[in-house]
Amino acid sequence: MAHRVTLIPGDGIGPEVVAATRRVLEASGVEFDWDVQEAGADVMDKYGTPLPDVVLDSIRANKVALKGPITTPVGTGFRSVNVAIRKALDLYANLRPARAITGIPICHENVDVVVVRENTEGLYAGIEHDVIPDVAAESIRIITRHATERVVRFAFEYARANDRGLVTAVHKANILKATDGLFLKVAREVAEGYPDIEFNDRIVDNMSMQLVQRPHEYEVLVCPNLFGDVISDLCSGLVGGLGVAPGANYGDGLAVFEPVHGSAPKYAGQNKTNPTATILSGALMLRHLGEKQAAEQVEGAVRAVIAAGKWVTYDLKADRTDPSAVGTQEMAEAIVEAMG
Ligand code: NAD
Repeated sequence: MAHRVTLIPGDGIGPEVVAATRRVLEASGVEFDWDVQEAGADVMDKYGTPLPDVVLDSIRANKVALKGPITTPVGTGFRSVNVAIRKALDLYANLRPARAITGIPICHENVDVVVVRENTEGLYAGIEHDVIPDVAAESIRIITRHATERVVRFAFEYARANDRGLVTAVHKANILKATDGLFLKVAREVAEGYPDIEFNDRIVDNMSMQLVQRPHEYEVLVCPNLFGDVISDLCSGLVGGLGVAPGANYGDGLAVFEPVHGSAPKYAGQNKTNPTATILSGALMLRHLGEKQAAEQVEGAVRAVIAAGKWVTYDLKADRTDPSAVGTQEMAEAIVEAMG
């Protein structure tokens, strides 16, 4: 039976990388019944909002979505549609694996770190206002026992299910004693329920330095919202950049799969950017749908194409101006071919 999945192409480079991913997923032989939904600035005129109810209703009904990036105006304009989807559907755990792929020029071999980011509160709660316009502004950072408990539990369950031996809590509890103090306290309590998995913690600034120098010492990192967002981009840099970094947002019974990267507007419509991050997000989705064999087939083909180094986009070339780099759709076709 075909899997009914909400498909949100997004904007900027979103429609291109999503089309490439759709092509690869369909070539795996798994059948999909795509429920295509539009969100972002382009639907404002029609619906009066960048996130129409029909999009959320579709995800609630189908329980699974594959999503391209959506632009958020910087400094002004509407709030992030991406954050709004995660909050509205209570997709509390953002999983962002950073795994080295042979063939990509990087500083450390065999990096394999997974970031689990709290997705519903922290500084992304969006509770902020001008105290005195143009003079002072204030943002409120919310950390709750409830949200911390469930995201840390998710990290330990992920570690257990994926043979990972260490979970590290990332925080700034030395300075943010109330908020990150609570995050760390709750993380330690949850850790006691998982004696089979080692637990430690790191202050976020030290964590950043250690990840750059010694990424092999870490396996699963669990972070409050903002730190998780920043640390996961750092980890994607360790394995080749945003072009290869997949992601997934999980709630109770719902999941939305999307790359870590944004809409990269300057590359929109050029058939230039790397589809790998979205294709690997699609592979995470295949696993979620119980299609493990197809997921392995897709991941294997991605690795084979990148290792061969010929049919890859500019960001995977040693010299980013290398004229032999191929476009988004051409790389996807090479992946389809490698799938046999
Ligand atoms: P970005 O991730 O869009 O791009 C930053 C840089 O990363 C690009 O200039 C490019 O050099 C590289 N890059 C990104 N995707 C790539 C790919 N597939 N292949 C090769 N290189 C790639 O980040 P930004 O420029 O800070 O944000 C642009 C917009 O995207 C903003 O409006 C932001 O709010 C939004 N955004 C959306 C999401 C989401 O939809 N989940 C996530 C992050 C940012």
